[in-house]
Amino acid sequence: MDLRGRRHSSAGEPIKFGLGRTIGPLRGLFYIVKITVTRKSHFNAAHRLYRPDWDEQRNIEVYGKCANANFHGHNYNLLVHVRGEVDAETGYVVDLKWLADLIDRCIVERFDHQNLNLDTTEFRTMVPTAENIAQVIWSLLRPEINSAHELKVTLYETERNYVECEG
Ligand SMILES: [Zn+2]
Repeated sequence: MDLRGRRHSSAGEPIKFGLGRTIGPLRGLFYIVKITVTRKSHFNAAHRLYRPDWDEQRNIEVYGKCANANFHGHNYNLLVHVRGEVDAETGYVVDLKWLADLIDRCIVERFDHQNLNLDTTEFRTMVPTAENIAQVIWSLLRPEINSAHELKVTLYETERNYVECEG
């Protein structure tokens, strides 16, 4: 190693470290990997798990306290994962500010502080279980996201209970 910290090969040529380029397409230099970008969001909503086509007893057997007539609420934590290749020019898979605005516009504004059973069209006829809410969220977001990207939705209904929907 010389005084400037440069290493030399036995032939005296500087050994190249790194790629010798800092921008531009990485194809051919690296394996193309997929990266997952995640935005966390949340909304509060009330719901009741109840099927009107079942009698009271069956609803209670299946849904327990969640079938209570007067509804109950959850603080839903939502993670939206977008997976794809990194754009060589921007260095992004997707702009997180854009993703945050999309989630606010399509999901939070629609469901926050709503009674899912009474206030939304989606759950008038569908039981608002975490599974069904995650499916609806995925379906609302999917058309808005580049089809080259994979989409996964993780929905926490409680700190310990969560579901994942990958379409
Ligand atoms: Zn509940």
